[in-house]
Amino acid sequence: MTDRLVVVGASLAGLRAVEAARGGGYGGEIALIGAEPHLPYDRPPLSKKTLEPGAPPESTQFRSREMLEDLGVELVLGASATAIDTGNKTITVRDAEIAYSAAVIATGADARRLPGGETPAGVHMLRTHDDALAVRAALDAGARTVVIGAGFIGSEVASAARKRGLPVTIVEALPTPLTRSVGPALGSALTRLHTRNGTEVICGVVVSAIEGEVGEVRRVRLEEGTALDADLVVVGIGTVPATDWLVGSGIMVDNGIVCDEFLATTADGVYAAGDVANWRNPLFGRSMRIEHWTSAAEQGARAALNALNPSVAQTYSTVPYFWSDWYGHRIQFVGVPSGQEHEVVSGSLDSDHFVVLYRDGDLLSAALTLNGQRHIMKYRNLINKRATFDEALAFARARASSSWGTPASPESV
Ligand code: FAD
Repeated sequence: MTDRLVVVGASLAGLRAVEAARGGGYGGEIALIGAEPHLPYDRPPLSKKTLEPGAPPESTQFRSREMLEDLGVELVLGASATAIDTGNKTITVRDAEIAYSAAVIATGADARRLPGGETPAGVHMLRTHDDALAVRAALDAGARTVVIGAGFIGSEVASAARKRGLPVTIVEALPTPLTRSVGPALGSALTRLHTRNGTEVICGVVVSAIEGEVGEVRRVRLEEGTALDADLVVVGIGTVPATDWLVGSGIMVDNGIVCDEFLATTADGVYAAGDVANWRNPLFGRSMRIEHWTSAAEQGARAALNALNPSVAQTYSTVPYFWSDWYGHRIQFVGVPSGQEHEVVSGSLDSDHFVVLYRDGDLLSAALTLNGQRHIMKYRNLINKRATFDEALAFARARASSSWGTPASPESV
């Protein structure tokens, strides 16, 4: 059999997979298959820097074509993998079959669509480079913006619109935004960041129609009757893991590709990484699918090394971490948002700085900071060590008294 690593999905996790394979000394063939025509590029800037006026369109590409070719990677771009035969070990692309001895699936996730088919021009999701350029062009034209969904990406779009002084409204179906990501109390605190910066947020409402004339969006109509004028509508209602092409392959899919703690799928020699992987995180003793930059990069590398050297495979465990930038402020979250008890150990929820710790039983389960860059990784380390909540509080108090001379007085939330 040809000694060939095939990586499906040419984005962050896929790129890290091929880099790790070569970095680890793999001398066989490598093919990197990507549905988009672009070289691998970075997504977080798409809802941040790329939306700023005049940002260069190519600025988020990770590596040049020459650099990838120097790594000995055969690039198959603008072509989706449509099937995998796990018995014969082949992957179908454009009616050709590419044989693999090891494979990494890093097909990520697609933006979730609103139900109900066609939408007028001016309605966008924000997942790809091309989406970002379309949103930016509308902002350049001074659009009145409605964002559907108060998640992190929609919130960053609102922030970009306000940075240009443009009017923007976020509509959210839940009574409190971000409840699943950070819990209701902190969801409310982050929502106040929007209102302090001039973004209108309407919660607990359902969109009944997106109306337009002559191919242009005009307004978003809510079920209770309100009509919101709009030239740009950005739909940010979550994602769906990109697994449709695996139907019938025998690879188990359940909210993403089911993987063990080694990132191995249920098929021999096939591993998965990044937003598409629902893997068992040994640190928390349970399966999770996370859509964060850091874990996608790390999983890509680990999946490739394990796929190529299964006899010395290593588990992948992590304390999940993500960041988001709103109105010039950095939000950072570590851990898992289980447990509903929180304490503010620095700043206040109505200010532009806070550090909040989350308790689950006796343990510190998560931490959320607003403009708390010098704090967040310390709490990540504590979660990694499975520190108790009381240990974390003692740590926070010691930091507060050494940094500011006065003990912190935790505010219960
Ligand atoms: P993806 O980046 O989704 O890439 C998957 C690739 O596979 C895509 O190019 C897709 O076209 C391709 N593909 C899909 N199906 C097939 C197929 N059948 N054949 C071939 N190719 C296929 N994370 C943070 O932690 N902080 C942030 O601030 C942040 N901001 C973000 C902003 C935006 C706008 C977006 C979209 C994401 C953001 N993220 C952020 C999340 C982060 O970018 C993702 O976690 C990361 O991109 C996941 O990488 P991935 O390689 O697993 O998947």
